[in-house]
Amino acid sequence: MQYSRVRAKRVLGRNMAAGDLIVMTGASGVGKGTLRARLMETVKLHYSISMTTRPPRPGERHGVDYWFVDEETFERTRAGGGFLEWASYVDHSYGTPKEPVEKALARGEDVLLEIEVQGALQVAKNKPDAVLIFIVPPSLSELRQRLLLRGKDSLEKIEKRLRRAEEEIGQAEKFDYVVVNDVLKDAVSDLKRIILSRRRIVKRMQPALERALVRDADLEAELNEIAARLQGRK
Ligand code: 5GP
Repeated sequence: MQYSRVRAKRVLGRNMAAGDLIVMTGASGVGKGTLRARLMETVKLHYSISMTTRPPRPGERHGVDYWFVDEETFERTRAGGGFLEWASYVDHSYGTPKEPVEKALARGEDVLLEIEVQGALQVAKNKPDAVLIFIVPPSLSELRQRLLLRGKDSLEKIEKRLRRAEEEIGQAEKFDYVVVNDVLKDAVSDLKRIILSRRRIVKRMQPALERALVRDADLEAELNEIAARLQGRK
């Protein structure tokens, strides 16, 4: 039996800490999607599924990879204030539905967004406590190599993306952390350490602090006996 839980709560206050909003962002082709998938294999996170007007690629599933919607639905959600952030990106719109994110944070879960840079900067404005992680390539040439090899974009588009990446790297001071995606497993381990260390800040450790203040009645009774015996020996 434990006692003084009530007292512990009185000493510490009762605030249930919300989870962290973790925003992973960076240039197109830098490997955000792969990092996210690997990270979620090792750290428990609530992944925020974005809404997009882009059609699904082969293998992508509605409600898993994205909520695939038409322009009208996207616009209605946007006009109704349903997005935490949204952006247009290469002819399509992308947005983070607000309600599921707020609910998961309130339950104390850490929420992961994987979004492009303009959206991440909107989150920074709306949610000053968000943890912004900026993923960078080892170099612009490596990024160019990745974009060329994945063969998804025209040469002209690749040059446009590289120029944009350069500008974004110039804005790095707006983010909290930088992770270099060179060796995948090292980048994943960096991300993991950032997220886990955030879970040790004082406001997230309330339950452990409460336990640390508890005195266990059975153990205390035994200890009293030992203390009395020790006292008798003197
Ligand atoms: P893709 O079409 O390749 O899945 O995504 C294109 C870009 O949009 C990626 O950089 C991706 O991170 C970003 N993105 C995905 N969902 C969102 C979102 O909800 N908001 C913003 N701002 N960007 C997003």
